[in-house]
Amino acid sequence: MDTIAAIATPIGTGAIGVIRISGPSALDVAARLFVPDPRELAPNTARHGRLVRPLSSGCRSGAGDLDDALITVFRAPRSYTGEDVVEISCHGGLATVKSALQAALDAGARLANPGEFTQRAFLNGKMDLAQAEAVNDLIRARTDAARRIALSQLEGDLSARVSQINARVLGVIAAVEAAIDFPEDVPEPEQAWLEDEIGEAKRGIEALLATFGSGRIYREGMRVVIAGRVNVGKSSLLNALLRHARAIVTPIPGTTRDLIEESLEIEGIPIVAIDTAGLRATDDPVESIGVELTRRSIESADVILLVIDATQGLHDEDRAMLAELANRPVVLVSNKSDLAAPSPQPSPPGEGAGVPTVHVSALTGQGIEELEAGIAEIAGEIAQGSEGAMVSNIRHQQALQSASDSLAHALETLERAEPIDLLSGDLSAARSSLGLVTGETASEDLLDRIFSEFCIGK
Ligand code: GDP
Repeated sequence: MDTIAAIATPIGTGAIGVIRISGPSALDVAARLFVPDPRELAPNTARHGRLVRPLSSGCRSGAGDLDDALITVFRAPRSYTGEDVVEISCHGGLATVKSALQAALDAGARLANPGEFTQRAFLNGKMDLAQAEAVNDLIRARTDAARRIALSQLEGDLSARVSQINARVLGVIAAVEAAIDFPEDVPEPEQAWLEDEIGEAKRGIEALLATFGSGRIYREGMRVVIAGRVNVGKSSLLNALLRHARAIVTPIPGTTRDLIEESLEIEGIPIVAIDTAGLRATDDPVESIGVELTRRSIESADVILLVIDATQGLHDEDRAMLAELANRPVVLVSNKSDLAAPSPQPSPPGEGAGVPTVHVSALTGQGIEELEAGIAEIAGEIAQGSEGAMVSNIRHQQALQSASDSLAHALETLERAEPIDLLSGDLSAARSSLGLVTGETASEDLLDRIFSEFCIGK
């Protein structure tokens, strides 16, 4: 195992920049660039000293000084990665941090790959895969709620639940295989017991899967799609929401850039607001791409804000749209209420019956707060019961779903009273799917893919 180094703090100007070094020769590397010799430090202590250019020999003169710094030494296995780890906190300027990293590389460390520190922590059994992924989620958490979910996952809430279910499945596998392997000595497990155990494991998985909707919302943001005819004020509404709510600057990975998407936060819930093109049928090929994108974004929306112009009321196109969205969470947003007659019901009564309607003016900001409250309420409905272990990662969701499908299949086999040999395949499939969450059965490729999404230095 080689020794790796990376800058662990954001690149830029800050009070402090941290260089992290991990591996069997972390202390030797550090000894070449830090005075006094960090090898003489008691483990898990910090020491103030001088960061110097590594010299292969000779005295360390002032000319080699890079910075005045603090070193922290963690001895294996009591460190983040489980290896010897040294962290050097220097002044946070770009030049200082870069030269400190260069010094570590010159002293024999290799530049770390993205996520390599956490990957080592995983490989050394400091955390399982779900926990390692939570580290990344925690770093990327944009709201307090997302932070809470990531922290709970990091602390092992999800892993514990999955391991519990896995243990149950393993118990069944052991009983079944023993009966198959030693038919003379070991009695076949009773049908009722098998049904109970497999059923209980499946229910446990389903309970976790049920948390996915809300978990995803906190992790990726609730998708709010703004739809409506041209000129009703969709872009203006998006801007009004951005002005009012707290805009989130970090771009969300994996979102399409083809429509205008903005990230904001309403009552602690991350929101991805998407301004769409119209939906009218068109022969123009460019416009029809826009229509297709709109359609797709509406399909994946958690809420659709159908904007209408209050001075014009509902058009046929709006009615068609409402009909199309009959079973979807729609809020009718009657915009330009500053121009509409001051009647309490500017849109014709009866139209869009059952669809919650909010009267706003994107121009004056009137009604925007009420609209936000409506959005937050819908988010609350989706995110019910967001306590304890939650599934927020689509990879986990897919693995759990496939485990649940395997167990469902095993239950069908039981129901048909077929020989218990036929349970083995489904039970071990369930077990290996569950193991994907915690990483026990994850392939190297999968691990590489997961850790490559991390930032360098983590
Ligand atoms: P979009 O095509 O639906 O995105 O509509 P825009 O946001 O571009 O707005 C179309 C026009 O309506 C622009 O001239 C806006 O200034 C105007 N507009 C949008 N919202 C309001 C509003 O609440 N009140 C008034 N008076 N004008 C608005």
